[in-house]
Amino acid sequence: MTDAAPPPRLCPVCRAARWTPLFAAPELFDGSLFPVARCPSCGLVATLDDLEPQELAAYYRYAEEPDAGHRFRAPLEPFMRLLRKERIKAVLRLRAAPGRILDVGSGRAVMLEALASRGWECWGTELEQEIAVSARRRLGDRVVVGQFEDLELPVRDFDVITFWHVFEHLADPSAAFAKTRELLAPDGVVLVSVPNVDSCQARLSGRDWLHLDVPRHRWHFTPDTLARLATAAGLEVLHAEQFSLEYGPYGMLQSGLAKLGLGQRLFTRVLRPAGGHAIWREPAFWTHLALALPIAAAAALSLPLEAIAAAAGKGGVIALALRRADRPRNRAP
Ligand SMILES: [Zn+2]
Repeated sequence: MTDAAPPPRLCPVCRAARWTPLFAAPELFDGSLFPVARCPSCGLVATLDDLEPQELAAYYRYAEEPDAGHRFRAPLEPFMRLLRKERIKAVLRLRAAPGRILDVGSGRAVMLEALASRGWECWGTELEQEIAVSARRRLGDRVVVGQFEDLELPVRDFDVITFWHVFEHLADPSAAFAKTRELLAPDGVVLVSVPNVDSCQARLSGRDWLHLDVPRHRWHFTPDTLARLATAAGLEVLHAEQFSLEYGPYGMLQSGLAKLGLGQRLFTRVLRPAGGHAIWREPAFWTHLALALPIAAAAALSLPLEAIAAAAGKGGVIALALRRADRPRNRAP
């Protein structure tokens, strides 16, 4: 799979047809390798495998746990609640008054449920029926199942549309921005966050970067390529930042550990339940436990290091707030 020439595929940002191979990156859970390449004209990085849609869908079995009440190990749940609050705050900073919101890839719809209790009209989308079940318990039939680019929604004119780490998964990110523009109210706002392939942590860890997450991540954006795609669809950047408490320090920590030769997969598997067999049974786990102190020190350092990287324009995450380029000018946000 990794030695095969990348299939000819047009760059969704600049339409170039040539890709420069970078490396073969390992899948996080089973270690199989996927070719990753960069568009030499615009800098977009892509996962260029030849997986059929159903083969790609099978790789999501590691990432989704539709029946579990939680996605992460119990001790992390309070932290995850804090992060959900950060997402709600990000929405309310853009628009304090209740309106109509669409969260693409809404998962269990916990954030939407909180906004609904504040008077928002909340809509969510999910790819898989099984994941949507738990969201529907919260939002009823305002959770729509399907690929976002092709969805028929019964309403439009959304005041806010959010994509928390969704765009890197989409087959056609350019069509997704066009659809977003179509669904947005004239003075509506879009929030998009994706991993930053131009970040310090991405450069530090190369093929082992946690947020490459091949083959689930199809595209690896730079700040410029994400903004160019949005602009081409008739949107403009209202605000851009690169620090995310949710993804930044965690990615920086993992990158640092990978650089020290400590397993990328092991770190994630300690945090995320997967596969059913106990991590403690693996001999490598005990070797890593002996390194707990240096790892804790690295964890303490990862937050300020990531904050510095973000301030320098090399943070682990690209978060854009976008609005319609043709919005009514007399109603500044
Ligand atoms: Zn390109």
